[in-house]
Amino acid sequence: MKVVYTPAHLLHNPEVEIESSTAHSPFEHTGRAEKIRETLAADDAFDFVSPTEWGTEPITKIHNPGLLKFLSTAWADYQRDVKEVREVVPDMFFKSNLREHMGERVEPESVNGKLGWWCFETTTPLTMGTYEAARGAVDVAMSATQIVLDGERFSYGLCRPPGHHATTDLYGGYCFFNNAAIVAHHVASTTGTKVTVLDVDYHHGNGTQQIFYERDDVQFVSLHGDPARAYPYFTGYADETGSSKGLGSTLNLPLAARTDDDTYLKSLERACESIKKFGPSMLIVSLGLDTFITDPISDLSLTTPGYDRCGSLVAQLKLPTVVLQEGGYDVNALGINVQSWLHGLARAS
Ligand SMILES: [Zn+2]
Repeated sequence: MKVVYTPAHLLHNPEVEIESSTAHSPFEHTGRAEKIRETLAADDAFDFVSPTEWGTEPITKIHNPGLLKFLSTAWADYQRDVKEVREVVPDMFFKSNLREHMGERVEPESVNGKLGWWCFETTTPLTMGTYEAARGAVDVAMSATQIVLDGERFSYGLCRPPGHHATTDLYGGYCFFNNAAIVAHHVASTTGTKVTVLDVDYHHGNGTQQIFYERDDVQFVSLHGDPARAYPYFTGYADETGSSKGLGSTLNLPLAARTDDDTYLKSLERACESIKKFGPSMLIVSLGLDTFITDPISDLSLTTPGYDRCGSLVAQLKLPTVVLQEGGYDVNALGINVQSWLHGLARAS
């Protein structure tokens, strides 16, 4: 299986995140992708290739061009206009009811105002090279997708930063550009066929859901910790099934704490049944390994052999499949868990 990787991810290198009311060293750090790279590079089943450059066009087909423009200069603007700091984080977030009865306003002019306009939470600092890293992750995703469009059955894009929390207009949740949504739209719009995004990260892929919520050509199917207790809290409930043309094209399967391999696989079977009914030409997998039993920020109980079973089950869909990296924070186990999932996928084909 081809693995697309770029060292550009190293340019996004926060040392602090604000999470659980605490400023601490970030769970989402460069060592995650490097661990995956080392593990897969030592395995003959995987061939590494570098991404090609795709420019900004695939990004602005999904995201507000204002978000792209902001991210391209925000860190430097902050150094110039506010103060010199390593990580840039908003100190205020725009919420529409702040301006209740007052009518709408446009993006503020100040960098602090813009931060609160385009960001939705505190765990996603901007560093000097964040924009370049985020652009690199999109190139990785697009290049992995091109490999499958060119005829390979599978590919794996080692995307970092991840993408599934980024909405049309907002970044957050460690995500800047929605890698999976960008490639799903690219495939659906250039081939005129249906595409499914299967999101198996512990956290609900709120961004991907929002982006495709009203569309009938891209299905979004997600298994995740129940938002009644789990980040991102406001989306991912079972009664969110799409709207207008997209009604029925979103499926959320929220999971109880301590869900184990067997119970998880039953939900994954339900997901696969729904994908079969939708009938896509290609599957994009948002692969998060933060469902792992010892993940430091999550509460499910999947195991390394369980991931092999998950990959095997997904392979039974017999679809061309692009797997893109999302979360996973038990770094010691992250490489072998990705390896196990991908081996399950490739072996069962
Ligand atoms: Zn996650």
